[in-house]
Amino acid sequence: MMSNINVLTIFPDMFQALNYGITDIAIKKGLINLSIINIRDFAKNKHKNTDDYPYGGGKGMIMTCQPIIDALYSLKSNGHVIYVSPKGKSLTQSKVKELNKYKDITIICGRYEGIDQRIIDNYVNEEISIGDYVLSGGEIPAMVLIDCLIRLKDGVLDKEAYENESHYNDLLEHGQYTRPEDYEGMIVPKVLLSGNHKLINDYQLIQSLKETFNKRIDILIKRGINKKEAKLLMEELPNMKKEIKKLIKE
Ligand code: SAM
Repeated sequence: MMSNINVLTIFPDMFQALNYGITDIAIKKGLINLSIINIRDFAKNKHKNTDDYPYGGGKGMIMTCQPIIDALYSLKSNGHVIYVSPKGKSLTQSKVKELNKYKDITIICGRYEGIDQRIIDNYVNEEISIGDYVLSGGEIPAMVLIDCLIRLKDGVLDKEAYENESHYNDLLEHGQYTRPEDYEGMIVPKVLLSGNHKLINDYQLIQSLKETFNKRIDILIKRGINKKEAKLLMEELPNMKKEIKKLIKE
């Protein structure tokens, strides 16, 4: 679904980073309407300030209510309002799928020490974090979220392209190869050249399971594996049979 994304920021030019590749094509084709709104344009004070000192003291500045709230009221539809914040729920592929259901999404980008809590309490539907670290502003997190959303939008990619990607089905993607078959003695796995789709699918599933087992066991513990997957994985990692057995959920 998701067709309109509004972004509230004091640094609108940063969003030019989306004018490349798939995000650029999707925007140009009109598959998604992206409106970048400069919060400063709504500031009513003489110097167009958008921040002020925090009550109770402390270092840094806080973005004020007035320009952000007026910017929100200026929109035709706010839809689902997200404040990108290190205090938010983690952005995961399943979160992206969930957010994709909203027709209109508005993202507020904080700067300085963040935005006045009253905006969050009264106008924000949810806070989203791109990871447990702190960046200087919400623009990069907003672009991360927008890029993820655009990839899932109908008409942007073939469904198959994103459904096989890491995290979509709670597995990491298998390794990929391209021409030539032999690069300085490094050879592409023979099965991929066999033309036998069943063998190729099984091989890629094993590689996917193995990648996830080796790199992100936490994902497999949460997802679980079925008996067929366990058998394939045990053949690939015979020394890990005990650990693999523990992952079986049916
Ligand atoms: N004082 C805030 C705190 O301790 O939670 C951090 C403010 S941060 C320096 C400035 C802005 O960057 C935030 O308002 C938020 O919009 C954005 N930001 C920083 N880290 C982020 C993260 N991990 N995910 C999403 N947004 C983030």
